Amino acid sequence: MRTVAGKTDHVVVIGAGLGGLSAALHLRGAGRSVTVLERADRPGGRAGRLELDGFRFDTGPTVLTMPHLIDDALAAVGERREEWLTLHRLDPAYRAHYADGSTLDVHCEPQRMAAEVERLCGPREAQGYLRFAAFTEALYRTSMRDFIDRNVDSPLDLVRLNLVRLVAMGGFRRMAPKVGQFFTDERLRRIFSFQALYVGLSPQQALALYLIVSYMDTVAGVYFPEGGMHSIGVAMAGAAAKHGVDVRLGTGAEHLELRGDQVVAVVTSTGERIPADAVVVNADLPAAYDLLPERLRPARPGRLRAAPSCVLLHLGTRGETSHHTAHHNLHFGTAWRQIFTELIDDGQLMSDPSLLVTQPTRTDPALAPDGGSTFYVLAPVPNLAVGRQDWSTLAPAYQERLLATLEERGYAGLGASVRTSRIITPLDWQRDGLVSGTPFSFAHSFGQTGPFRPPNLLPGVANLVLAGCGTVPGVGVPMVLISGRLAAQRITG
Ligand SMILES: Cc1cc2nc3c(=O)[nH]c(=O)nc-3n(C[C@H](O)[C@H](O)[C@H](O)COP(=O)(O)OP(=O)(O)OC[C@H]3O[C@@H](n4cnc5c(N)ncnc54)[C@H](O)[C@@H]3O)c2cc1C
Repeated sequence: MRTVAGKTDHVVVIGAGLGGLSAALHLRGAGRSVTVLERADRPGGRAGRLELDGFRFDTGPTVLTMPHLIDDALAAVGERREEWLTLHRLDPAYRAHYADGSTLDVHCEPQRMAAEVERLCGPREAQGYLRFAAFTEALYRTSMRDFIDRNVDSPLDLVRLNLVRLVAMGGFRRMAPKVGQFFTDERLRRIFSFQALYVGLSPQQALALYLIVSYMDTVAGVYFPEGGMHSIGVAMAGAAAKHGVDVRLGTGAEHLELRGDQVVAVVTSTGERIPADAVVVNADLPAAYDLLPERLRPARPGRLRAAPSCVLLHLGTRGETSHHTAHHNLHFGTAWRQIFTELIDDGQLMSDPSLLVTQPTRTDPALAPDGGSTFYVLAPVPNLAVGRQDWSTLAPAYQERLLATLEERGYAGLGASVRTSRIITPLDWQRDGLVSGTPFSFAHSFGQTGPFRPPNLLPGVANLVLAGCGTVPGVGVPMVLISGRLAAQRITG
């Protein structure tokens, strides 16, 4: 494994997203002196917090999987997660609501889930589910150690026994036909393949390899931290500070000072110069490159294909409005293939949308004032590279359209119960410096995966490492926690 050149006693981490915080904890655990610079006044990055009229909303991830990766980062400095975070395992992990009026609860215990599948779709499909759960678990075990949780210096590094196994398992075929080998019922095909969207693709385009996300999501378990997902970043930053990491919130990095090919200091937006032996950059990729002198900026991000974006609608309500809902609800429309074509290829809004509606107050009522509820509605929309929408004028009408769709899909009276709301569109993500106005970074197509994704070491700069969703292994809380560890290993060896 290649490592950075030179001394590594003091490392500056730019960005306190979950990737940056993971790097900071692993570096501190390995005995480095660490300074974290975060331009925002809170840690967590995309796992942020919005407070509106006494309602508290998560602004990014809501589905927490693989919490042992948080344990791992905290354990690097000798801390136990239980001392910092109270996690609830969600049951059901999701409730799927279909256009024909049927519902399916996703339980992350195979026998209970098989019984639920049998209830809705019959015994053959239940057998298919048990085979699917075993297959995705094997896929996860085969791919994790050799392909995801590992620094790779060249594609040749991947030529191992597990690569042969992955090929034999069909990991490099497409996701939709693979899922079709286990299920004939269209409803099951959807609930076990919609996760392709989490990696920025349709189930027809995504590699079957990414069924590991379905495994994390529907088999391994979904969790929710008390106080919301934002508590994860707060806990990680708190543990880092307790162990001597200098976490400076409200301090942006303006540029990097180089001597030859070595970064020697980070200059902040207030002009302060912070000497550094090595630097980890957690900012989204184009913004990370902008910190470098022009001669060293890689040209590639412009040519990478961004994932679709999303609109988030945060609603704080009063009174009972949610009928038949769980913590996480997936509302599928009738259309399926077509919505991915609209989103990804045609740059259009979904004509018959599928939506994620999360109601965090189901698990933690303290997130709303007494008698209130919070709703987080996520609608996939095209990113700004392909989309033709003018969000500066469209946003209010789109909010009304989403509310009307929700009322039709079982949330009768929702509109009238709203006490506070905020809509976030691709323009907001763009203003935050996120590539193509999407918070989901680059799509995980074959050519942007593994050794073909922007690597965490930059050519031409000897002591700079990237961490976060724009680099390896990729997008999502589990992946960026791993990316922080991989970045730290590039420094510590
Ligand atoms: C709406 C939404 C829903 C999602 N849903 C899920 C989900 O359910 N489950 C899941 O696993 N993942 C989900 N994700 C993805 C996941 O949240 C992200 O992949 C992950 O949090 C990104 O972390 P990161 O470390 O790469 O970067 P970020 O969170 O973007 O952190 C980067 C940090 O760097 C800071 N920064 C940037 N430039 C500078 C500078 N010059 N100086 C100082 N600081 C700087 C930023 O302020 C930011 O805090 C979701 C994301 C969003 C937005």
